[in-house]
Amino acid sequence: MKVIVVGSSHGGYETVEGLLKKNPDTEIQWYEKGDFLSFLSCGMQLYLEGKVKKVNSVSYATPEEMEKKGVSVFLQQEITEIDPDKHEVTVVNQIDNSSRTEKYDKLVLSAGAVPTQIPVEGSDLQNIYAMRGRDWAIRLKARTVDPTINNVVVIGSGYIGNEATEVFAKAGMNVTVIDILPRVLGTYLDPEFTDILAKNMQDHGVNLAVGESVKKFIGKDGKVAQVETDKGTYDADLVVEAAGIRPNTKWLRGILQLNDDGTISTDDYMQTSQKDIFAVGDATHIKFLPTDGEAHISLATNARRQGRIAALNIEKPTRKFPGISGSSALTVFDYKFASTGIKDATAEAYKANVKSVFVTDLYRPKFVPEAENTTVYFKLTYNAENHQIVGAQIMSKADVTANINAISVAIQAKLTIEDLEYADFFFQPGFDRPWNIINVAAQKAVEEEN
Ligand code: FAD
Repeated sequence: MKVIVVGSSHGGYETVEGLLKKNPDTEIQWYEKGDFLSFLSCGMQLYLEGKVKKVNSVSYATPEEMEKKGVSVFLQQEITEIDPDKHEVTVVNQIDNSSRTEKYDKLVLSAGAVPTQIPVEGSDLQNIYAMRGRDWAIRLKARTVDPTINNVVVIGSGYIGNEATEVFAKAGMNVTVIDILPRVLGTYLDPEFTDILAKNMQDHGVNLAVGESVKKFIGKDGKVAQVETDKGTYDADLVVEAAGIRPNTKWLRGILQLNDDGTISTDDYMQTSQKDIFAVGDATHIKFLPTDGEAHISLATNARRQGRIAALNIEKPTRKFPGISGSSALTVFDYKFASTGIKDATAEAYKANVKSVFVTDLYRPKFVPEAENTTVYFKLTYNAENHQIVGAQIMSKADVTANINAISVAIQAKLTIEDLEYADFFFQPGFDRPWNIINVAAQKAVEEEN
C-alpha cells in the first residue's frame, strides 16, 4: 500500500510514525513544502530565549533518519492539487517549479494552519512578523539582539503572543501587548487568574493595552513605527502578530467538504468526505469531550493524537478518535498555569450551562519552608445539571500544572464533582497537601450543591 502524507509538523510526523509502527512495509511518501523537515513551533520560545542553542535541533526527525526507516522524504515539494477519483496528487517542486503527478492508495493531509494577518492599513510594512515555523523563528531570533529594536508590540495575548511577550521583555525591550479581549489570556483563564497574571506582567515592565482593537500600522521609511488602536497609539520598531490562525485549506475548496470556518470536515476515523483521504491537525475540527461536540483547538497534542488514529484506520475504520478536552500549560513570568475544557469565560461560546468553584491553598503543608508565600489557585467547572466535570484551571509560582491532566481524564471518564470529592490522591509533605486541591474544590462544589 502506498500512503502519501502531506505536511511534516506534528500531525504529519505522528501519522508517519504510526504507519511505520502498524506496518513497516507501507510505502510512505512524505511531503513538506518548506525546506526543513518537522520544525516544532512549540520549541520556539526556548530557542528564542537561548535555552536551546540550535534552531535545527527543534525538530522531531531529520530526512536521513526517516529515509533509514524506509520513508521517502520530499522537501520543498508542495502538493497543489488532488484528484480523488484518479487517486492522484500534483506535486510542485519549489526549487525549479516543475510539476508531476503521484498516485496514492491513501492520502493523509496535515497541512496545518497559517497565522492570521490583520487586514488594516500598513500591514505590508517591514518588521511586522508572525511567530510560527522555522523561518519566522530565525528572523525573530535576529531581532532579539537587534540594537535598533527598542519597542515591540505584540498583537494577541493568547499563548503564542504571551511567549513572544516574554521573549522580548526578557531581551530587555519595551513590550506592549494589544488584545481586543478585555483580559490577557482571556480564553485560557478566568479573571481570578488573569488579574494576577496581568499585574505580574506589568511588574515585569510589560504595557497592557487590552480591550483595544488595531486600526492601522503607521510606517516610517517603509518600516513599522507605530500601531494605532481605537484607544491609543503605541511606538513599535517590531510588531509580532499572534492574533489567531486560519486553516491552510483554500487549495482544498471544491475537493473536500469544509466546515464553515474553513477547516476540513472529518468523521471519527479522521476520514474526509472523499474516499481514502484522511485529515488531521490544525486544519480540522476535533471531538471536544466537555460538550460532546466539536471544536477547533490548535494544539500539537491534538494533532499527534489524530495522526496516530489516522494511521490505525488507514486500511479500514477500526478505531474512533476518543476526543480531547483542550488541555494546555504555559509559564507567564513568575507563574505557571494549565487549563482544560470549559471556563466561565468560554461557557457562553460553548452554549454550556456550568457552575464553578474557585479555591486557593498552600502549595505544601505550612511547616514546609517552601510553602510560605506559594499559593495554588484552582478553579473547577462542572455541568450545572448533571454535575459532570467540564473544565479546570490551575496556577501557582510552583509547578502544579500536572493536576490538570487528572481533570482531563475526569472529563473523559465523565466523572462528577461527587466522584472527585474523596478521590484517592497521594500525600507526602514534599509533594502535596493531605487533601489534594482537586479534592478541596470538589468538596466545596458538593457542599454548595447540597
Ligand atoms: P502545522 O504545524 O501548521 O504544519 C503544517 C505543515 O504542512 C507545515 O510544515 C507546512 O509547510 C506543510 N504544508 C502545508 N501545506 C502543504 C502542502 N500543500 N504540501 C506540502 N506541505 C504542506 N501546541 C502544544 O500542544 N503545545 C505547545 O507548547 C505549543 N506551543 C506552540 C508555540 C507556538 C509559537 C506555536 C505557533 C504553536 C504552538 N503549539 C503548541 C501549536 C502546535 O504547534 C500546532 O497545533 C501544530 O503545529 C499543528 O500541527 P499540524 O501538523 O496540524 O500543522
